Amino acid sequence: MSAAIRVLPLTAGQCLGLAALTGRGAPWRVERYPAGFALILHPLHGPVLFDTGYAPRVLSAMSRWPGLLYGLVTPVQIDVRETAAAQLARLGFPPAGVRQIIVSHLHADHVGGLRDFPGATFVLDLEPSRSLLAQRGLRALRRAFLPELLPPDFLARVRPLTFAPAPSGLAPFSEAADVFGDGSVYAVRVPGHAPGMIALIARTQPGAALEGDGAGLSLLAADVAWRVPALRSGGEPHPLARLAFGDPVGERRSRAGVRAWLEVHPHARVILSHDLPEAGPEPVHVR
Ligand SMILES: [Zn+2]
Repeated sequence: MSAAIRVLPLTAGQCLGLAALTGRGAPWRVERYPAGFALILHPLHGPVLFDTGYAPRVLSAMSRWPGLLYGLVTPVQIDVRETAAAQLARLGFPPAGVRQIIVSHLHADHVGGLRDFPGATFVLDLEPSRSLLAQRGLRALRRAFLPELLPPDFLARVRPLTFAPAPSGLAPFSEAADVFGDGSVYAVRVPGHAPGMIALIARTQPGAALEGDGAGLSLLAADVAWRVPALRSGGEPHPLARLAFGDPVGERRSRAGVRAWLEVHPHARVILSHDLPEAGPEPVHVR
Protein backbone atom coordinates (compact mmCIF):
# COMPACT_ATOMS: atom_id res chain seq x y z
CA MET A 1 0.00 0.00 0.00
CA SER A 2 1.37 3.44 -0.89
CA ALA A 3 2.07 5.91 1.85
CA ALA A 4 -0.46 8.65 2.51
CA ILE A 5 -0.03 12.15 3.79
CA ARG A 6 -2.21 14.85 5.30
CA VAL A 7 -2.62 18.20 3.56
CA LEU A 8 -3.67 21.32 5.46
CA PRO A 9 -4.35 24.31 3.21
CA LEU A 10 -3.43 27.59 4.91
CA THR A 11 -2.94 31.20 3.84
CA ALA A 12 -0.32 33.81 4.67
CA GLY A 13 -1.47 37.28 3.74
CA GLN A 14 -3.44 38.45 0.76
CA CYS A 15 -3.28 40.81 -2.14
CA LEU A 16 -5.90 42.99 -3.73
CA GLY A 17 -6.74 42.47 -7.37
CA LEU A 18 -9.37 43.16 -9.95
CA ALA A 19 -11.93 40.35 -10.00
CA ALA A 20 -12.66 40.96 -13.68
CA LEU A 21 -9.20 39.76 -14.62
CA THR A 22 -9.62 36.36 -13.00
CA GLY A 23 -12.47 35.09 -15.12
CA ARG A 24 -14.64 36.07 -18.03
CA GLY A 25 -17.85 37.63 -16.77
CA ALA A 26 -16.43 38.35 -13.30
CA PRO A 27 -17.34 41.82 -11.92
CA TRP A 28 -15.07 44.86 -12.19
CA ARG A 29 -14.41 45.24 -8.51
CA VAL A 30 -11.43 44.87 -6.22
CA GLU A 31 -11.29 41.60 -4.35
CA ARG A 32 -8.94 40.01 -1.84
CA TYR A 33 -6.91 37.04 -2.97
CA PRO A 34 -5.42 34.94 -0.18
CA ALA A 35 -1.82 33.81 -0.64
CA GLY A 36 -2.25 30.11 -0.06
CA PHE A 37 0.29 27.54 0.97
CA ALA A 38 -0.09 24.02 2.33
CA LEU A 39 1.28 22.10 5.26
CA ILE A 40 1.98 18.53 4.23
CA LEU A 41 2.34 16.04 7.06
CA HIS A 42 4.38 13.10 5.85
CA PRO A 43 4.84 10.09 8.13
CA LEU A 44 8.61 9.98 7.53
CA HIS A 45 9.58 13.46 6.38
CA GLY A 46 7.51 15.31 8.95
CA PRO A 47 6.15 18.76 8.25
CA VAL A 48 6.80 19.80 4.65
CA LEU A 49 5.53 22.99 3.07
CA PHE A 50 4.14 23.57 -0.39
CA ASP A 51 5.01 27.28 -0.87
CA THR A 52 4.92 29.84 1.95
CA GLY A 53 2.62 32.72 1.01
CA TYR A 54 3.70 36.26 1.91
CA ALA A 55 5.83 37.54 4.78
CA PRO A 56 6.45 41.14 5.93
CA ARG A 57 9.74 41.24 3.99
CA VAL A 58 7.61 41.36 0.85
CA LEU A 59 6.29 44.72 2.06
CA SER A 60 9.88 45.90 2.62
CA ALA A 61 10.79 44.86 -0.91
CA MET A 62 7.75 46.75 -2.15
CA SER A 63 8.80 49.91 -0.36
CA ARG A 64 11.81 50.24 -2.66
CA TRP A 65 12.32 50.57 -6.38
CA PRO A 66 11.49 48.53 -8.38
CA GLY A 67 9.41 46.46 -5.95
CA LEU A 68 7.06 49.35 -5.32
CA LEU A 69 5.61 48.84 -8.78
CA TYR A 70 4.51 45.36 -7.67
CA GLY A 71 2.79 46.93 -4.67
CA LEU A 72 0.95 49.38 -6.90
CA VAL A 73 -0.42 46.65 -9.15
CA THR A 74 -1.29 44.17 -6.40
CA PRO A 75 -1.30 45.81 -2.94
CA VAL A 76 -0.28 43.24 -0.33
CA GLN A 77 -1.52 42.82 3.23
CA ILE A 78 0.45 40.62 5.64
CA ASP A 79 0.92 40.72 9.38
CA VAL A 80 3.86 39.12 11.19
CA ARG A 81 1.42 36.82 13.04
CA GLU A 82 0.07 35.49 9.74
CA THR A 83 3.31 34.18 8.24
CA ALA A 84 3.74 30.50 7.47
CA ALA A 85 6.43 30.32 10.16
CA ALA A 86 4.18 31.89 12.82
CA GLN A 87 1.28 29.63 11.95
CA LEU A 88 3.41 26.49 11.95
CA ALA A 89 4.83 27.44 15.35
CA ARG A 90 1.28 27.78 16.69
CA LEU A 91 0.44 24.36 15.26
CA GLY A 92 3.38 22.89 17.17
CA PHE A 93 5.94 22.75 14.35
CA PRO A 94 8.99 24.95 15.02
CA PRO A 95 10.07 26.50 11.69
CA ALA A 96 13.64 25.26 12.23
CA GLY A 97 12.30 21.71 12.08
CA VAL A 98 10.88 22.06 8.58
CA ARG A 99 13.34 20.13 6.39
CA GLN A 100 11.72 20.55 2.99
CA ILE A 101 9.72 23.20 1.17
CA ILE A 102 8.28 22.28 -2.20
CA VAL A 103 8.19 25.46 -4.30
CA SER A 104 5.43 25.58 -6.93
CA HIS A 105 7.04 28.55 -8.68
CA LEU A 106 9.07 31.63 -7.82
CA HIS A 107 6.44 34.38 -7.71
CA ALA A 108 6.63 36.62 -4.66
CA ASP A 109 3.39 35.36 -3.11
CA HIS A 110 4.75 31.81 -3.07
CA VAL A 111 8.31 32.32 -1.83
CA GLY A 112 7.87 35.30 0.53
CA GLY A 113 8.46 33.18 3.63
CA LEU A 114 11.37 30.97 2.49
CA ARG A 115 13.89 32.90 4.59
CA ASP A 116 12.01 31.96 7.76
CA PHE A 117 12.98 28.28 7.40
CA PRO A 118 16.76 28.08 7.84
CA GLY A 119 16.87 24.26 7.89
CA ALA A 120 14.82 23.68 4.76
CA THR A 121 15.84 22.25 1.42
CA PHE A 122 13.93 23.75 -1.53
CA VAL A 123 12.36 21.20 -3.84
CA LEU A 124 11.49 22.54 -7.30
CA ASP A 125 11.73 22.05 -11.05
CA LEU A 126 15.06 23.82 -11.24
CA GLU A 127 16.08 23.87 -14.90
CA PRO A 128 13.04 25.72 -16.30
CA SER A 129 13.06 28.01 -13.25
CA ARG A 130 16.54 29.25 -14.08
CA SER A 131 15.20 31.71 -16.64
CA LEU A 132 13.51 33.54 -13.75
CA LEU A 133 16.36 33.06 -11.29
CA ALA A 134 18.69 34.82 -13.71
CA GLN A 135 16.55 38.00 -13.78
CA ARG A 136 17.23 41.07 -11.67
CA GLY A 137 15.65 44.48 -11.17
CA LEU A 138 12.82 45.56 -13.41
CA ARG A 139 13.06 42.50 -15.64
CA ALA A 140 12.56 40.23 -12.63
CA LEU A 141 9.78 42.39 -11.26
CA ARG A 142 7.85 42.34 -14.53
CA ARG A 143 7.66 38.59 -14.05
CA ALA A 144 6.51 38.86 -10.40
CA PHE A 145 9.92 37.73 -9.17
CA LEU A 146 11.64 39.60 -6.32
CA PRO A 147 15.11 38.02 -6.03
CA GLU A 148 15.76 39.50 -2.58
CA LEU A 149 13.02 37.30 -1.11
CA LEU A 150 15.16 34.21 -1.66
CA PRO A 151 17.76 33.26 0.95
CA PRO A 152 21.30 34.10 -0.25
CA ASP A 153 22.16 30.38 -0.27
CA PHE A 154 18.98 29.45 -2.15
CA LEU A 155 20.67 27.57 -5.01
CA ALA A 156 22.92 25.61 -2.65
CA ARG A 157 19.82 24.39 -0.83
CA VAL A 158 17.83 23.33 -3.90
CA ARG A 159 16.96 19.70 -4.47
CA PRO A 160 15.88 19.58 -8.12
CA LEU A 161 12.92 17.36 -8.88
CA THR A 162 13.70 14.36 -11.08
CA PHE A 163 11.04 13.60 -13.67
CA ALA A 164 10.37 10.13 -15.06
CA PRO A 165 7.58 8.50 -17.06
CA ALA A 166 4.37 9.03 -15.05
CA PRO A 167 2.10 6.28 -13.72
CA SER A 168 -0.88 5.83 -16.05
CA GLY A 169 -3.23 7.35 -13.45
CA LEU A 170 -1.58 10.74 -13.95
CA ALA A 171 -2.48 10.97 -17.67
CA PRO A 172 -2.48 13.24 -19.62
CA PHE A 173 0.77 14.08 -17.81
CA SER A 174 3.41 11.88 -19.35
CA GLU A 175 6.14 12.68 -16.82
CA ALA A 176 6.05 13.11 -13.07
CA ALA A 177 8.45 13.41 -10.16
CA ASP A 178 7.86 11.09 -7.19
CA VAL A 179 8.66 13.76 -4.59
CA PHE A 180 9.39 11.49 -1.61
CA GLY A 181 10.12 8.31 -3.56
CA ASP A 182 7.18 6.49 -1.94
CA GLY A 183 4.28 7.32 -4.27
CA SER A 184 2.61 9.63 -1.74
CA VAL A 185 3.13 12.85 -3.71
CA TYR A 186 3.76 13.34 -7.43
CA ALA A 187 4.76 16.63 -9.01
CA VAL A 188 3.64 17.34 -12.58
CA ARG A 189 4.80 20.19 -14.79
CA VAL A 190 2.28 22.99 -15.40
CA PRO A 191 4.37 25.83 -16.84
CA GLY A 192 2.95 28.96 -18.45
CA HIS A 193 1.78 31.09 -15.55
CA ALA A 194 5.44 30.96 -14.55
CA PRO A 195 8.40 28.98 -15.87
CA GLY A 196 8.95 25.77 -13.95
CA MET A 197 5.57 25.80 -12.22
CA ILE A 198 4.51 22.45 -10.77
CA ALA A 199 1.30 21.02 -9.34
CA LEU A 200 1.11 18.18 -6.83
CA ILE A 201 -1.10 15.12 -6.84
CA ALA A 202 -1.09 13.63 -3.36
CA ARG A 203 -2.56 10.54 -1.76
CA THR A 204 -4.40 11.74 1.32
CA GLN A 205 -5.94 8.36 2.12
CA PRO A 206 -3.91 5.14 2.39
CA GLY A 207 -4.30 3.01 -0.69
CA ALA A 208 -6.06 5.72 -2.73
CA ALA A 209 -5.62 4.71 -6.37
CA LEU A 210 -4.24 7.07 -9.00
CA GLU A 211 -6.30 5.06 -11.49
CA GLY A 212 -9.54 5.59 -9.54
CA ASP A 213 -12.07 8.43 -9.55
CA GLY A 214 -9.88 10.70 -7.44
CA ALA A 215 -11.28 9.69 -4.05
CA GLY A 216 -8.54 10.03 -1.47
CA LEU A 217 -6.42 12.23 -3.72
CA SER A 218 -5.70 15.95 -3.47
CA LEU A 219 -4.63 18.14 -6.35
CA LEU A 220 -2.56 21.12 -5.27
CA ALA A 221 -2.67 23.12 -8.48
CA ALA A 222 -0.89 26.34 -7.43
CA ASP A 223 -1.78 29.12 -9.89
CA VAL A 224 -3.08 26.96 -12.73
CA ALA A 225 -6.37 28.84 -12.22
CA TRP A 226 -7.78 31.46 -9.86
CA ARG A 227 -11.07 29.74 -9.08
CA VAL A 228 -11.81 26.07 -8.52
CA PRO A 229 -15.20 26.07 -10.34
CA ALA A 230 -13.60 27.76 -13.35
CA LEU A 231 -10.83 25.15 -13.40
CA ARG A 232 -13.31 22.28 -13.25
CA SER A 233 -15.63 23.78 -15.89
CA GLY A 234 -12.93 25.00 -18.26
CA GLY A 235 -13.52 28.72 -17.72
CA GLU A 236 -10.97 31.10 -19.21
CA PRO A 237 -9.29 33.99 -17.43
CA HIS A 238 -9.82 37.45 -18.88
CA PRO A 239 -7.72 38.08 -22.02
CA LEU A 240 -6.05 41.02 -20.27
CA ALA A 241 -4.89 38.78 -17.44
CA ARG A 242 -3.51 36.32 -19.94
CA LEU A 243 -1.21 39.07 -21.20
CA ALA A 244 0.57 38.89 -17.86
CA PHE A 245 1.49 35.23 -18.20
CA GLY A 246 5.05 34.55 -19.21
CA ASP A 247 3.85 31.97 -21.72
CA PRO A 248 0.11 32.19 -22.55
CA VAL A 249 0.17 29.14 -24.83
CA GLY A 250 1.85 27.02 -22.18
CA GLU A 251 -0.54 28.37 -19.56
CA ARG A 252 -3.56 27.23 -21.59
CA ARG A 253 -2.01 23.84 -22.30
CA SER A 254 -1.19 23.27 -18.61
CA ARG A 255 -4.66 24.31 -17.50
CA ALA A 256 -6.22 21.97 -20.10
CA GLY A 257 -4.03 19.12 -18.82
CA VAL A 258 -5.09 19.66 -15.22
CA ARG A 259 -8.72 19.90 -16.24
CA ALA A 260 -8.47 16.67 -18.26
CA TRP A 261 -7.00 14.90 -15.23
CA LEU A 262 -9.84 16.26 -13.06
CA GLU A 263 -12.48 15.05 -15.49
CA VAL A 264 -11.23 11.52 -14.97
CA HIS A 265 -10.71 12.10 -11.21
CA PRO A 266 -13.81 14.14 -10.27
CA HIS A 267 -13.60 13.21 -6.59
CA ALA A 268 -10.10 14.60 -6.09
CA ARG A 269 -9.98 17.57 -3.73
CA VAL A 270 -8.74 20.70 -5.52
CA ILE A 271 -6.57 23.22 -3.69
CA LEU A 272 -5.63 26.39 -5.59
CA SER A 273 -3.31 29.01 -4.13
CA HIS A 274 -5.73 31.92 -4.36
CA ASP A 275 -9.17 30.38 -3.82
CA LEU A 276 -10.90 28.67 -0.91
CA PRO A 277 -9.88 25.02 -0.86
CA GLU A 278 -12.56 22.45 -1.49
CA ALA A 279 -13.81 20.73 1.65
CA GLY A 280 -11.51 18.01 2.84
CA PRO A 281 -11.33 15.50 5.66
CA GLU A 282 -8.91 17.61 7.71
CA PRO A 283 -10.24 20.09 10.25
CA VAL A 284 -7.73 22.93 10.41
CA HIS A 285 -7.49 24.95 13.60
CA VAL A 286 -5.20 27.94 13.35
CA ARG A 287 -5.50 30.78 15.80
ZN1 LIG B 1 2.07 32.97 -9.51
